[in-house]
Amino acid sequence: MKLILTACIGLGLVGATPAHAEWVRRITDGIMGTRMIVELWADDKAAADPAIDAVLDEMRRLDESMSTYKSTSEISAANAKAADAPMHISKELFDLLKTARQYSELTDGAFDITYASVGYLYNFRKHVRPNEAQINKALPAVNYRHVILDDKNQTVFFSQKGVRIDLGGIAKGYAVDCGINVLKARGYTRAFVSAGGDSRIMGDRFGKPWMVGIRDPRKGEGEVITKIPLTDAAMSTSGDYERFFEEDGVRYHHIIDPHTGHSASLVRSATVIGPMAIRTDGLSKTAFVLGPEKAIEIYNRIEDIDAIIVKLDGTVIYSKGLEPAKIRRGATAPPAPSRENY
Ligand code: ADP
Ligand code: MG
Repeated sequence: MKLILTACIGLGLVGATPAHAEWVRRITDGIMGTRMIVELWADDKAAADPAIDAVLDEMRRLDESMSTYKSTSEISAANAKAADAPMHISKELFDLLKTARQYSELTDGAFDITYASVGYLYNFRKHVRPNEAQINKALPAVNYRHVILDDKNQTVFFSQKGVRIDLGGIAKGYAVDCGINVLKARGYTRAFVSAGGDSRIMGDRFGKPWMVGIRDPRKGEGEVITKIPLTDAAMSTSGDYERFFEEDGVRYHHIIDPHTGHSASLVRSATVIGPMAIRTDGLSKTAFVLGPEKAIEIYNRIEDIDAIIVKLDGTVIYSKGLEPAKIRRGATAPPAPSRENY
């Protein structure tokens, strides 16, 4: 768990809120291979549980169609067939592939869903990694430009054999946004939804922001490097401490440099803050591939995006919009549960 929530609703606030209303929180493991947290302010407690069920159903629906771990998913079907001929896909997947391409363009190719053409050769749980020959053979298939999208026919086509796509770098952010939309449609105005390292906050906590902590990449889960006050915002953290293994002193982890096919290791963690989780998710991998300075340059260029990067030497750099005065450094938060199941 990269993002740590601090309970900041104090006793003093209770009197200011409706008598039977309360915060309702549920933590669920296993959907999208990660931990989901849904918390909302419920005027009517009885309606809160079905609302949370609806959010989780939405997450399950997305998991069914977007997971490469499921052979029946739409994305698996695309990986099996889209190199043979243009394949008609759902509007939702088509739009997501278009968004993914935008992030590739925005990040000089650091974000690239075709990383999977090499990425499938890694198994971080089993400490398996490809050798140089395998990487060199698979690498020509890694390039977002190989994914041809036809707006008119709503099709996807892979212009090369061997291309595989994986939405692991964007799907959780998208799912979080969809979860928030489910709650909005039911009239909720204060909520928190997270899927692993991707989170989004709707509203505030009665005049106060939500306080979110960013984990120290080399310390325990409860240890944070900073806390940030957030209202109506999304936040994604990518970390080299997530899915990884070490061999001969080298850390192999789950973000792949599309240019080399190797683990991208130029920072320890990157946290991106913005209006939507699909955006923050799509951008949080960039720093690993391009390095902290180049990534901050890109983040600074995007109007509504901020970022906090922990460099390899443990120092922290911030984007322009996050002057240290706005955040409390060195604060601590209660230990958070672990987030990855695989
Ligand atoms: P999480 O899976 O917890 O949301 P991240 O947001 O850091 O973690 O995303 C990491 C995932 O992104 C990897 O597990 C993989 O599925 C995918 N990925 C790895 N490298 C890239 C890349 N260069 N571009 C796009 N996605 C990537
Ligand atoms: Mg993510």
